[in-house]
Amino acid sequence: MFLNTFSISAQTIRTVFEKIAMSNGIILSPDKRGQHFRPVNELRENSKMFVKEHIELFPLVESHYCRKDSNKKYLSNEIKSVGEMFRLYEEWFESRGYDLINKVTLRQYRDIFNFNFNLSFYVPKKDQCDFCLKYENMTPEEKIASKFENDQHLFNKQKARELKEADKTAAQASSATVTACFDFEKILSTTTANASCFYYKRKLEVYNFTVYELASHEANCYVWDETIAKKGCVEVSNCLLKFIEEYVTKGVRNFHFWSDNCGGQNKNKVLFGFFGWASKNFKVNITHRFLEKGHTQNEGDSVHALIEKSQKNKIVYTPIQWYSIIRNAKTKEPVYKVTEMIQDDFKDFKTFSYSLNWIKNTGVESAKSSCIQKCSATTKTILRCCAQHQEEWSNYKWSKSTPNGVTQKNMQYNART
Ligand SMILES: [Zn+2]
Repeated sequence: MFLNTFSISAQTIRTVFEKIAMSNGIILSPDKRGQHFRPVNELRENSKMFVKEHIELFPLVESHYCRKDSNKKYLSNEIKSVGEMFRLYEEWFESRGYDLINKVTLRQYRDIFNFNFNLSFYVPKKDQCDFCLKYENMTPEEKIASKFENDQHLFNKQKARELKEADKTAAQASSATVTACFDFEKILSTTTANASCFYYKRKLEVYNFTVYELASHEANCYVWDETIAKKGCVEVSNCLLKFIEEYVTKGVRNFHFWSDNCGGQNKNKVLFGFFGWASKNFKVNITHRFLEKGHTQNEGDSVHALIEKSQKNKIVYTPIQWYSIIRNAKTKEPVYKVTEMIQDDFKDFKTFSYSLNWIKNTGVESAKSSCIQKCSATTKTILRCCAQHQEEWSNYKWSKSTPNGVTQKNMQYNART
């Protein structure tokens, strides 16, 4: 009755009496609340170690679009979330036969991932512009302060679209003119399959550089894998060289190119130097303009979307299989044209461009290379760049590290080839 009233067991009473007997009537023992058999820190260390071991199994890739954007490493595009990694972790943990006491929860896994690694997931090209999004969320006062910048951004966005449309019309009107957008597709991984063991394997990277001709809707895909070349400005120059070579034989004399603003691939001295060389060599006029940052979606994106759709649920073991997927992605004419690049196709336009006589111009305002919106190389003039979409030339100085690490200031974008 006594035990039932207090809802305690006989063992509790026995323990109390034993303790009273042992301590002459006064019970004064250490407080053991919150203490577990296994020390918490030790458990955490082991669990953490296993999670780290698992995360380190995933192969890493560089940024998908712009190699020089940041030092951040990216997980290959097959892994899309921490939740997906955790699902693989559970499978992996069981297969290793580790003590279940060391298994962590999704939340703990996420914390270890966030605080111990500087990793990001593949981010598809944004539909939303960072600047516009920031502006939308500003207070009325902040909007007034950023009005000029916003107006300029919207003006550039509109102007670029109009100029691209005008370039397209010019290409439709004349067989001597071609207008094209170019861009890299996201890295195509080889091997791809849905089996968990493939997630941990370092993949061979396959690159697809697409030049999309706006008037004829022809997509030229230049493809190679990472054992042949990288995916920087030299590779962009050489793919465009292939493109120009081919279209020159078709009688084209004016090339209008459009791209995004990626400094490592599209907006740099190497590519501009190449344009100067190509203009002189093939006796053609080349203009390269840039779409406004945040609004760089273009017709070439649909090519990449269709290729990725065609690959879905197919296992790709070799680069050649990727090339075949690209070739067969579009069934209607014109189908995608694939050019498999070999090592000898890549000429060293980097050394060439740095050896050019980039003329200094000390009398003009200095500006960052990111401001450049147009680069032009014609048969009549030297290579020139300007920071506005307007036709008036603005002279801007070049300020960038040279290959030997010395920063040369006041180098202008005008180069003689
Ligand atoms: Zn915007």
